[in-house]
Amino acid sequence: MSKRDYYEVLGISKGASDDEIKKAYRKLAIKYHPDKNPDDKTAEEKFKEAAEAYEVLSSPEKRQRYNQYGHAGVGGASGGGFGGGGMNMEDIFSQFGDIFGGGGFGGFGSSSRGGGRRVMRGSNLRVKVKMNLQEVAKGVEKKLKVNKFVSCGTCKGSGAKNGQLETCKLCGGSGVQVRTQQTFLGAMQTQTTCSGCNGEGKTVKDKCNTCHGDGIVRAEEVISINIPAGVAEGMQLSVGGKGNAAPRGGINGDLLVLIEEEEHLELKRDGNNLFYDSYINFADAALGTSIEIPTVDAKVKIKIDPGTQSGKVLRLKGKGLPDVNSYGTGDLLVNINVWTPQNLSAEEKKALELLRTSKNFEPNPNRKEKGFFDRMKEYFD
Ligand SMILES: [Zn+2]
Ligand SMILES: [Zn+2]
Repeated sequence: MSKRDYYEVLGISKGASDDEIKKAYRKLAIKYHPDKNPDDKTAEEKFKEAAEAYEVLSSPEKRQRYNQYGHAGVGGASGGGFGGGGMNMEDIFSQFGDIFGGGGFGGFGSSSRGGGRRVMRGSNLRVKVKMNLQEVAKGVEKKLKVNKFVSCGTCKGSGAKNGQLETCKLCGGSGVQVRTQQTFLGAMQTQTTCSGCNGEGKTVKDKCNTCHGDGIVRAEEVISINIPAGVAEGMQLSVGGKGNAAPRGGINGDLLVLIEEEEHLELKRDGNNLFYDSYINFADAALGTSIEIPTVDAKVKIKIDPGTQSGKVLRLKGKGLPDVNSYGTGDLLVNINVWTPQNLSAEEKKALELLRTSKNFEPNPNRKEKGFFDRMKEYFD
Protein backbone atom coordinates (compact mmCIF):
# COMPACT_ATOMS: atom_id res chain seq x y z
CA MET A 1 0.00 0.00 0.00
CA SER A 2 1.64 3.21 -1.07
CA LYS A 3 0.96 6.33 0.91
CA ARG A 4 -0.22 9.60 -0.51
CA ASP A 5 1.96 12.66 -0.24
CA TYR A 6 1.16 14.43 3.04
CA TYR A 7 0.92 17.83 1.37
CA GLU A 8 -1.49 16.39 -1.13
CA VAL A 9 -3.55 14.82 1.67
CA LEU A 10 -4.01 18.20 3.35
CA GLY A 11 -4.37 19.98 0.00
CA ILE A 12 -1.60 22.47 0.73
CA SER A 13 1.61 23.58 -0.93
CA LYS A 14 5.08 22.54 0.18
CA GLY A 15 5.71 26.01 1.51
CA ALA A 16 2.52 26.18 3.60
CA SER A 17 2.77 28.00 6.94
CA ASP A 18 2.03 26.35 10.29
CA ASP A 19 -1.26 28.19 10.36
CA GLU A 20 -2.26 26.96 6.90
CA ILE A 21 -1.40 23.40 7.90
CA LYS A 22 -3.52 23.65 11.02
CA LYS A 23 -6.44 25.18 9.13
CA ALA A 24 -6.30 22.55 6.39
CA TYR A 25 -6.23 19.73 8.90
CA ARG A 26 -9.06 21.21 10.92
CA LYS A 27 -11.23 21.43 7.83
CA LEU A 28 -10.64 17.79 6.95
CA ALA A 29 -11.02 16.63 10.54
CA ILE A 30 -14.44 18.26 10.72
CA LYS A 31 -15.47 16.87 7.34
CA TYR A 32 -14.45 13.30 8.11
CA HIS A 33 -15.05 13.26 11.86
CA PRO A 34 -16.48 9.87 12.94
CA ASP A 35 -19.33 11.52 14.81
CA LYS A 36 -20.45 13.08 11.56
CA ASN A 37 -19.87 9.93 9.48
CA PRO A 38 -20.95 7.01 11.66
CA ASP A 39 -19.95 3.59 10.32
CA ASP A 40 -18.34 5.09 7.25
CA LYS A 41 -15.04 3.26 6.69
CA THR A 42 -13.89 5.58 3.92
CA ALA A 43 -14.43 8.64 6.08
CA GLU A 44 -12.55 6.97 8.92
CA GLU A 45 -9.61 6.24 6.63
CA LYS A 46 -9.57 9.82 5.39
CA PHE A 47 -9.78 11.05 8.97
CA LYS A 48 -6.77 8.94 9.93
CA GLU A 49 -4.84 9.87 6.82
CA ALA A 50 -5.31 13.56 7.54
CA ALA A 51 -4.28 13.10 11.18
CA GLU A 52 -1.13 11.30 10.14
CA ALA A 53 -0.24 14.02 7.64
CA TYR A 54 -0.88 16.66 10.29
CA GLU A 55 1.16 14.82 12.90
CA VAL A 56 4.18 14.99 10.63
CA LEU A 57 3.76 18.40 9.01
CA SER A 58 2.90 20.18 12.27
CA SER A 59 6.23 19.20 13.78
CA PRO A 60 9.11 21.22 12.29
CA GLU A 61 11.56 18.38 12.90
CA LYS A 62 9.36 15.68 11.34
CA ARG A 63 8.39 17.95 8.49
CA GLN A 64 12.01 18.55 7.63
CA ARG A 65 12.74 14.82 7.70
CA TYR A 66 9.71 14.17 5.54
CA ASN A 67 10.80 16.81 2.99
CA GLN A 68 14.21 15.19 2.87
CA TYR A 69 13.48 11.48 2.98
CA GLY A 70 9.76 11.12 2.29
CA HIS A 71 7.63 8.64 4.20
CA ALA A 72 10.61 6.52 5.20
CA GLY A 73 12.01 9.39 7.23
CA VAL A 74 8.98 9.62 9.45
CA GLY A 75 7.92 6.03 9.81
CA GLY A 76 5.91 5.48 6.68
CA ALA A 77 8.25 3.31 4.63
CA SER A 78 6.37 1.08 2.27
CA GLY A 79 6.26 -2.61 2.83
CA GLY A 80 8.21 -2.50 6.04
CA GLY A 81 7.45 -2.62 9.68
CA PHE A 82 7.34 1.11 10.04
CA GLY A 83 4.29 2.69 11.47
CA GLY A 84 2.15 -0.27 10.51
CA GLY A 85 -1.39 0.86 9.95
CA GLY A 86 -0.62 4.42 10.93
CA MET A 87 -2.48 6.05 13.76
CA ASN A 88 -5.39 4.68 15.66
CA MET A 89 -8.35 6.74 16.79
CA GLU A 90 -7.20 6.93 20.40
CA ASP A 91 -3.88 8.38 19.22
CA ILE A 92 -5.63 10.99 17.19
CA PHE A 93 -7.98 12.12 19.91
CA SER A 94 -5.33 12.19 22.57
CA GLN A 95 -2.72 14.02 20.52
CA PHE A 96 -4.79 16.51 18.67
CA GLY A 97 -7.44 17.10 21.29
CA ASP A 98 -6.70 20.79 21.13
CA ILE A 99 -7.78 21.03 17.55
CA PHE A 100 -11.18 19.57 18.36
CA GLY A 101 -11.67 21.47 21.57
CA GLY A 102 -12.03 25.21 21.89
CA GLY A 103 -14.08 27.44 19.65
CA GLY A 104 -15.69 26.40 16.43
CA PHE A 105 -15.86 22.72 17.06
CA GLY A 106 -18.73 22.71 19.52
CA GLY A 107 -20.90 20.25 17.66
CA PHE A 108 -18.84 17.30 18.71
CA GLY A 109 -18.38 18.23 22.33
CA SER A 110 -20.84 15.61 23.46
CA SER A 111 -18.60 12.83 22.28
CA SER A 112 -17.44 10.93 25.30
CA ARG A 113 -14.09 10.13 23.79
CA GLY A 114 -13.09 13.73 23.27
CA GLY A 115 -13.90 14.71 26.85
CA GLY A 116 -11.25 15.68 29.29
CA ARG A 117 -10.00 12.23 30.10
CA ARG A 118 -6.32 11.91 29.65
CA VAL A 119 -4.80 8.97 27.86
CA MET A 120 -1.27 8.29 29.00
CA ARG A 121 1.37 7.90 26.34
CA GLY A 122 4.59 5.96 26.71
CA SER A 123 7.83 7.73 25.93
CA ASN A 124 9.74 7.22 22.70
CA LEU A 125 12.70 4.90 22.66
CA ARG A 126 15.87 5.71 20.72
CA VAL A 127 18.25 3.16 19.30
CA LYS A 128 21.19 3.32 16.89
CA VAL A 129 21.62 0.82 14.10
CA LYS A 130 24.83 0.23 12.18
CA MET A 131 24.47 -0.47 8.48
CA ASN A 132 27.14 -1.53 6.02
CA LEU A 133 26.97 -0.69 2.35
CA GLN A 134 25.58 -4.08 1.34
CA GLU A 135 22.74 -3.62 3.81
CA VAL A 136 22.09 -0.10 2.57
CA ALA A 137 21.93 -1.40 -1.00
CA LYS A 138 19.47 -4.19 -0.31
CA GLY A 139 17.55 -3.09 2.77
CA VAL A 140 17.71 -5.33 5.79
CA GLU A 141 15.71 -6.81 8.60
CA LYS A 142 17.39 -6.11 11.93
CA LYS A 143 16.55 -7.67 15.23
CA LEU A 144 17.16 -5.20 18.02
CA LYS A 145 17.35 -6.14 21.65
CA VAL A 146 15.94 -3.25 23.65
CA ASN A 147 15.37 -2.68 27.33
CA LYS A 148 12.06 -0.94 27.73
CA PHE A 149 8.82 -0.59 29.62
CA VAL A 150 6.28 -3.22 28.72
CA SER A 151 2.78 -3.85 29.98
CA CYS A 152 2.81 -5.71 33.33
CA GLY A 153 1.84 -9.33 32.83
CA THR A 154 0.56 -9.84 36.38
CA CYS A 155 -2.17 -7.22 36.20
CA LYS A 156 -2.40 -7.06 32.40
CA GLY A 157 -1.30 -3.47 32.50
CA SER A 158 -4.11 -2.24 34.72
CA GLY A 159 -1.91 -1.63 37.77
CA ALA A 160 -4.55 -3.18 40.05
CA LYS A 161 -4.10 -6.43 41.99
CA ASN A 162 -7.39 -7.93 40.87
CA GLY A 163 -7.22 -6.24 37.51
CA GLN A 164 -10.08 -3.99 38.47
CA LEU A 165 -10.01 -0.24 38.33
CA GLU A 166 -12.42 2.00 40.12
CA THR A 167 -14.09 5.02 38.69
CA CYS A 168 -12.48 8.04 40.30
CA LYS A 169 -14.69 9.32 43.10
CA LEU A 170 -13.47 12.87 42.78
CA CYS A 171 -14.41 13.44 39.16
CA GLY A 172 -16.82 10.61 38.52
CA GLY A 173 -14.61 9.29 35.73
CA SER A 174 -14.50 12.41 33.58
CA GLY A 175 -10.88 13.14 34.47
CA VAL A 176 -11.62 16.81 35.04
CA GLN A 177 -12.76 18.86 37.97
CA VAL A 178 -15.00 21.79 37.34
CA ARG A 179 -14.74 24.71 39.68
CA THR A 180 -17.16 27.59 39.79
CA GLN A 181 -15.66 30.87 40.88
CA GLN A 182 -17.39 34.12 41.56
CA THR A 183 -15.69 36.96 39.78
CA PHE A 184 -16.74 40.50 38.99
CA LEU A 185 -17.83 39.23 35.59
CA GLY A 186 -20.17 36.79 37.23
CA ALA A 187 -19.85 33.04 37.82
CA MET A 188 -16.92 31.55 35.89
CA GLN A 189 -16.34 27.90 35.40
CA THR A 190 -12.81 26.56 35.09
CA GLN A 191 -11.82 23.01 34.25
CA THR A 192 -8.71 21.44 35.66
CA THR A 193 -7.21 17.98 35.42
CA CYS A 194 -8.58 15.86 38.26
CA SER A 195 -6.07 15.60 41.09
CA GLY A 196 -7.49 12.31 42.32
CA CYS A 197 -6.74 10.33 39.16
CA ASN A 198 -4.33 12.57 37.28
CA GLY A 199 -6.94 12.94 34.62
CA GLU A 200 -7.21 9.25 33.86
CA GLY A 201 -10.75 8.94 35.22
CA LYS A 202 -9.95 5.72 37.06
CA THR A 203 -8.02 4.87 40.18
CA VAL A 204 -6.29 1.74 41.43
CA LYS A 205 -7.57 0.48 44.78
CA ASP A 206 -5.27 -2.47 45.46
CA LYS A 207 -1.96 -1.94 43.71
CA CYS A 208 -0.39 -4.82 41.79
CA ASN A 209 2.68 -6.15 43.62
CA THR A 210 4.72 -6.62 40.47
CA CYS A 211 4.47 -3.12 39.05
CA HIS A 212 3.37 -1.20 42.18
CA GLY A 213 0.35 0.16 40.40
CA ASP A 214 2.07 1.55 37.32
CA GLY A 215 0.89 -1.20 35.00
CA ILE A 216 4.32 -1.32 33.37
CA VAL A 217 7.58 -3.13 34.10
CA ARG A 218 11.06 -3.07 32.58
CA ALA A 219 11.87 -5.94 30.28
CA GLU A 220 14.09 -6.88 27.40
CA GLU A 221 12.35 -7.22 24.09
CA VAL A 222 13.59 -8.24 20.67
CA ILE A 223 12.08 -6.00 18.05
CA SER A 224 12.47 -6.85 14.43
CA ILE A 225 12.44 -3.93 12.02
CA ASN A 226 12.69 -3.70 8.27
CA ILE A 227 15.08 -0.99 7.20
CA PRO A 228 14.44 0.08 3.62
CA ALA A 229 17.21 0.20 1.04
CA GLY A 230 18.89 3.54 0.41
CA VAL A 231 18.98 4.90 3.97
CA ALA A 232 21.88 7.12 4.95
CA GLU A 233 23.92 8.21 7.95
CA GLY A 234 21.94 10.34 10.36
CA MET A 235 18.55 9.36 9.01
CA GLN A 236 15.96 8.54 11.62
CA LEU A 237 13.14 6.08 11.13
CA SER A 238 10.26 5.73 13.51
CA VAL A 239 8.42 2.53 14.26
CA GLY A 240 4.98 3.38 15.60
CA GLY A 241 3.98 1.83 18.90
CA LYS A 242 7.26 0.01 19.56
CA GLY A 243 8.53 2.42 22.20
CA ASN A 244 7.83 2.33 25.92
CA ALA A 245 4.44 1.14 27.10
CA ALA A 246 2.36 3.74 28.92
CA PRO A 247 1.20 3.39 32.50
CA ARG A 248 -2.14 1.67 32.98
CA GLY A 249 -3.04 0.76 29.46
CA GLY A 250 -2.26 3.98 27.57
CA ILE A 251 -0.71 4.29 24.15
CA ASN A 252 2.79 3.00 23.45
CA GLY A 253 5.51 5.44 22.46
CA ASP A 254 7.45 5.03 19.22
CA LEU A 255 10.78 3.41 18.54
CA LEU A 256 13.14 5.87 16.88
CA VAL A 257 15.91 4.22 14.90
CA LEU A 258 18.97 6.31 14.08
CA ILE A 259 21.01 5.03 11.13
CA GLU A 260 24.78 4.86 11.40
CA GLU A 261 26.59 4.03 8.21
CA GLU A 262 29.81 2.04 8.26
CA GLU A 263 32.39 3.30 5.81
CA HIS A 264 33.26 1.01 2.93
CA LEU A 265 36.98 0.45 2.39
CA GLU A 266 36.94 1.02 -1.36
CA LEU A 267 33.67 2.61 -2.36
CA LYS A 268 32.82 6.15 -1.32
CA ARG A 269 29.28 7.39 -1.28
CA ASP A 270 27.69 10.65 -2.39
CA GLY A 271 23.90 10.44 -2.16
CA ASN A 272 22.91 7.49 -4.30
CA ASN A 273 26.12 7.49 -6.33
CA LEU A 274 29.27 5.55 -5.49
CA PHE A 275 32.85 6.39 -6.38
CA TYR A 276 35.87 4.23 -6.94
CA ASP A 277 39.45 5.32 -7.55
CA SER A 278 41.21 2.98 -9.94
CA TYR A 279 44.94 2.98 -10.79
CA ILE A 280 46.24 1.51 -14.01
CA ASN A 281 49.77 1.40 -15.26
CA PHE A 282 51.16 3.53 -17.98
CA ALA A 283 51.48 0.70 -20.51
CA ASP A 284 47.90 -0.50 -19.91
CA ALA A 285 46.66 3.04 -20.42
CA ALA A 286 48.47 3.24 -23.75
CA LEU A 287 47.71 -0.25 -25.02
CA GLY A 288 44.27 -0.85 -23.47
CA THR A 289 43.34 -3.60 -21.02
CA SER A 290 40.49 -4.80 -18.85
CA ILE A 291 40.39 -4.28 -15.08
CA GLU A 292 38.33 -5.51 -12.13
CA ILE A 293 36.23 -3.03 -10.23
CA PRO A 294 34.49 -3.69 -6.89
CA THR A 295 30.75 -2.98 -6.73
CA VAL A 296 28.43 -3.39 -3.77
CA ASP A 297 27.78 -7.06 -4.44
CA ALA A 298 30.55 -8.43 -6.68
CA LYS A 299 33.56 -7.52 -8.74
CA VAL A 300 32.93 -6.58 -12.36
CA LYS A 301 35.29 -6.35 -15.30
CA ILE A 302 35.49 -3.16 -17.30
CA LYS A 303 37.34 -2.43 -20.52
CA ILE A 304 40.00 0.26 -20.70
CA ASP A 305 40.37 1.58 -24.25
CA PRO A 306 43.83 2.06 -25.76
CA GLY A 307 44.94 5.66 -25.21
CA THR A 308 42.89 6.21 -22.03
CA GLN A 309 43.86 9.41 -20.23
CA SER A 310 44.37 9.77 -16.51
CA GLY A 311 41.29 11.38 -14.97
CA LYS A 312 38.81 9.70 -17.27
CA VAL A 313 35.58 8.86 -15.46
CA LEU A 314 33.65 5.76 -16.43
CA ARG A 315 30.04 5.68 -15.36
CA LEU A 316 28.55 2.29 -14.51
CA LYS A 317 24.81 2.95 -14.77
CA GLY A 318 22.67 1.55 -11.96
CA LYS A 319 25.60 0.18 -9.99
CA GLY A 320 25.11 2.74 -7.23
CA LEU A 321 22.56 2.67 -4.42
CA PRO A 322 18.77 2.61 -4.66
CA ASP A 323 16.96 5.77 -3.67
CA VAL A 324 15.21 5.52 -0.32
CA ASN A 325 12.01 6.82 -1.92
CA SER A 326 12.37 4.47 -4.89
CA TYR A 327 13.28 7.23 -7.34
CA GLY A 328 15.64 4.97 -9.25
CA THR A 329 19.18 3.81 -8.54
CA GLY A 330 22.46 5.71 -8.54
CA ASP A 331 25.57 5.00 -10.61
CA LEU A 332 29.09 3.85 -9.84
CA LEU A 333 31.66 6.33 -11.12
CA VAL A 334 35.12 4.96 -11.72
CA ASN A 335 37.92 7.48 -11.81
CA ILE A 336 40.86 6.22 -13.88
CA ASN A 337 44.26 7.31 -12.61
CA VAL A 338 47.29 6.47 -14.69
CA TRP A 339 50.11 5.46 -12.37
CA THR A 340 53.44 7.03 -13.19
CA PRO A 341 56.29 4.65 -12.23
CA GLN A 342 58.48 5.97 -9.42
CA ASN A 343 61.21 3.35 -9.19
CA LEU A 344 62.79 2.37 -12.46
CA SER A 345 65.72 0.11 -13.24
CA ALA A 346 68.54 1.38 -15.41
CA GLU A 347 67.22 -0.66 -18.33
CA GLU A 348 63.70 0.70 -17.96
CA LYS A 349 65.06 4.22 -17.84
CA LYS A 350 66.98 3.55 -21.03
CA ALA A 351 63.85 2.25 -22.78
CA LEU A 352 61.92 5.33 -21.73
CA GLU A 353 64.72 7.65 -22.84
CA LEU A 354 64.20 6.28 -26.31
CA LEU A 355 60.48 7.09 -26.14
CA ARG A 356 60.84 10.50 -24.52
CA THR A 357 61.52 12.31 -27.75
CA SER A 358 58.95 10.38 -29.78
CA LYS A 359 56.38 12.67 -31.39
CA ASN A 360 53.62 10.30 -30.18
CA PHE A 361 54.59 10.95 -26.57
CA GLU A 362 53.94 14.65 -26.88
CA PRO A 363 50.89 15.70 -24.75
CA ASN A 364 48.04 17.10 -26.80
CA PRO A 365 45.57 19.02 -24.60
CA ASN A 366 43.39 19.79 -27.62
CA ARG A 367 42.31 16.22 -28.12
CA LYS A 368 38.66 15.30 -27.78
CA GLU A 369 38.83 14.11 -24.13
CA LYS A 370 36.82 16.10 -21.64
CA GLY A 371 38.77 18.17 -19.13
CA PHE A 372 38.36 18.25 -15.38
CA PHE A 373 35.82 21.08 -15.47
CA ASP A 374 33.59 19.38 -18.03
CA ARG A 375 33.62 16.13 -16.11
CA MET A 376 32.63 17.87 -12.87
CA LYS A 377 29.89 19.78 -14.63
CA GLU A 378 28.57 16.60 -16.17
CA TYR A 379 28.44 14.93 -12.76
CA PHE A 380 26.67 17.73 -10.94
CA ASP A 381 24.16 18.27 -13.74
ZN1 LIG B 1 1.12 -5.11 37.54
ZN1 LIG C 1 -10.55 11.83 38.86
